[in-house]
Amino acid sequence: MNSLLQTLSCADGYDPDALPVGTAQALILAQLAPVPDFERGFVRCGLNRVLGEDVVAPVNVPAHDNSAMDGYALRHAELSAAGETRLAIVGSAYAGRAFEGHLPPGSALRIMTGAIVPEGLDTVVPQETVGVEGEIVIIPPGQRAGQHLRRAGEDLKAGQPALKAGKWLRPAEIGLLASLGQVEVTLRRRLRVAIFSTGDELCSIGTPLAPGQVYDSNRYTLWGMLTRLGCEVRDMGVVRDDPETLEAALAAAAKSSDVIITSGGVSVGEADFVRELMARLGEVAFWKIAMKPGRPMAFGRIGAAWLFGLPGNPVAVMVTFYQFVRPALQKMMGAEPTSLPTFRVPSLAALRKTPGRTEYLRGQMVQEDGEWRVQPTGAQGSGILRSMSEANCLIVLEHERGNVAVGDLVGVQTLDGLV
Ligand code: AMP
Ligand code: MG
Repeated sequence: MNSLLQTLSCADGYDPDALPVGTAQALILAQLAPVPDFERGFVRCGLNRVLGEDVVAPVNVPAHDNSAMDGYALRHAELSAAGETRLAIVGSAYAGRAFEGHLPPGSALRIMTGAIVPEGLDTVVPQETVGVEGEIVIIPPGQRAGQHLRRAGEDLKAGQPALKAGKWLRPAEIGLLASLGQVEVTLRRRLRVAIFSTGDELCSIGTPLAPGQVYDSNRYTLWGMLTRLGCEVRDMGVVRDDPETLEAALAAAAKSSDVIITSGGVSVGEADFVRELMARLGEVAFWKIAMKPGRPMAFGRIGAAWLFGLPGNPVAVMVTFYQFVRPALQKMMGAEPTSLPTFRVPSLAALRKTPGRTEYLRGQMVQEDGEWRVQPTGAQGSGILRSMSEANCLIVLEHERGNVAVGDLVGVQTLDGLV
């Protein structure tokens, strides 16, 4: 079998020193497979996780034909096409309390929303459109056969898959499972992801900053993004730029995790000892991706764990996570990997752009006269985390693109709502 590095180097257009974003995304996804383990859990435990089995509807939902309105159920064939029809009200049906009497010809049933429509009746007329005289209901002409009726099984048919394995469970799916009466579901097990930051200049929160130090923020953004993706995060702290410590951290992480995510230490000035070390422990490709921010990145495996060596700059960590790591983890979780949807909106600002790389600016989408537009959020340095915090989207300027003029359409990926 080919080694990972051989496989990568045989891929079309593979140039580790100038890899377009789309090529890197495809190379990563092609290597990964879903974790093979499943577990049973109560329906609510499934939120933000991936369904591990097809769920077949054991019953029709709804179980019976029922009324969509408060009104009168009747036989459409008994209505006069031209004028009013007078029908005898023979009883009432409530949600959860069916009418079980006889419905002779010429009769109508007072019915509430959600009540079973008895066999033989086929149409519901809303109460606000009828006249009532004692025990007689007067139906105006112009009713449509079958109106205001919810058919048995119109939501889900018994025996058909209601949800397929691989479905990401959102609130709608949790409710849908409950609507089928499911108590437990089979879930793909959570991914175990180890994270650590590398850098001699990093200081952990809770400790006073010494001169030249910065607080380690990457572990916190990574923890946040991973937690929202439903991963089990193992935070391994800060690892100094020292081969022995780094080797021990990588070996420990590889033993206990499906994925290792590091930040820092992969840029040109620092990569040498990391590269030598990672090459010894596993198979890792060092890429320069044609993108800004986020150019250097390492991808490979150490033992049974996949490794993502992200750049150190705080914005680059987030951008590379969303573009590469998120879809990769989704695939490992057993879900359909999704790239972030990209919409096109006019730019409120002129933007400088160098062709030959994909650029991700932090953007603020605003609504003006009912139309969405986007502007960059001030200084765009890849170390300026504030630009991410002020952003509600990433502005994506594609590989081949040059400068953008005011009013030109640009791609945006919304950050709000990202799981
Ligand atoms: P590196 O990729 O290690 O050369 O780091 C690039 C820049 O990102 C340097 O200015 C680092 O100080 C900064 N940096 C690296 N890791 C972190 C971190 N965990 N938190 C905050 N800043 C970091
Ligand atoms: Mg560093």
